[in-house]
Amino acid sequence: MNLSVIVPCFNEEDAIPIFFDEVENIKEQLPVSVDYIFINDGSTDNTLTVLQQLSKENSHVHYCSFSRNFGKEAALYAGLLKAKGDLVTVMDVDLQDPPELLIEMYEKIQDKNIDCVATRRSTRTGEPKIRSFFARMFYKIINRIGHAEMIDGARDFRLMTRQMVDAILEVTEYNRFSKGIFSWVGFNTIYISYENRERVAGETSWSFWKLFSYSIDGLVNFSEAPLNFASVLGAVSFISSLVAFLFIIIRTLVFGDPTSGWPSLVAIILAVGGIQLLSIGIIGKYIAKIFLETKRRPNFIIREESNKKSS
Ligand code: UDP
Ligand code: MG
Repeated sequence: MNLSVIVPCFNEEDAIPIFFDEVENIKEQLPVSVDYIFINDGSTDNTLTVLQQLSKENSHVHYCSFSRNFGKEAALYAGLLKAKGDLVTVMDVDLQDPPELLIEMYEKIQDKNIDCVATRRSTRTGEPKIRSFFARMFYKIINRIGHAEMIDGARDFRLMTRQMVDAILEVTEYNRFSKGIFSWVGFNTIYISYENRERVAGETSWSFWKLFSYSIDGLVNFSEAPLNFASVLGAVSFISSLVAFLFIIIRTLVFGDPTSGWPSLVAIILAVGGIQLLSIGIIGKYIAKIFLETKRRPNFIIREESNKKSS
């Protein structure tokens, strides 16, 4: 049995050695051979040098370095493509994904009915309140309107069988939203909960706005509900305008006085104009996705990689 550990790294020179030692310790307790695939996602610090050194010293450490920062999604995808293991796990390098959980995860995945052991944070301590609030909202919305169930607090950290990884690789879309894809491919996933941890070194590269736009991507990639919302909005405003028309015609016929007032007219024009712009915006979001998808650009470009035969 062979386990591939995929680790995306973006400016993580301090965290990598700590992470590596920690996982090496845990490895002793696992009856599998472990190989590492570090993805250097266009770091601007010494991450690459650290990885080169590590790979030179340890035959089971592989790395792959991008030509620029392509984002964590691209790094995960590259890692999954490179991984050869019978079991594959995806871990953050900052030790927010506790390596000791691997032991429990490994035991659980021995069950033939389980294809994936995933993890979720039971708490969000140490995270800004506003961020937790929006995260909760996101999961509520996506689970109500999306095609793929996403568990609140679920991490990307998970142990998967070869079969499931192959299924994930069959999803070749350009706009990758891993949380959705993991769930979309199906298979039996069980969750292990753990308390949130703080980063060991370095700092998070996700600003609030980056997360916000990431969540919009998630919505657009896994739901057509915003499009339906636009159509429903159109229908509702059309029907109410019909009712208003009838009301005005009848009132004029009965009372004979002309409808007064441009304020109401302005309000109506603004309302209708607003609805139109909103709907065009929503449609635009989807067209933008189609545009990117049809360009069929690669998800990432590799500048350099360790050329060892991976086992
Ligand atoms: N990461 C990456 N590319 C990016 C941003 C992040 O490969 O553009 C990696 C990062 O090095 C880390 C993991 O993704 O291993 C999670 O990132 P981070 O800890 O910043 O996110 P958070 O835990 O705050 O959600
Ligand atoms: Mg982190």
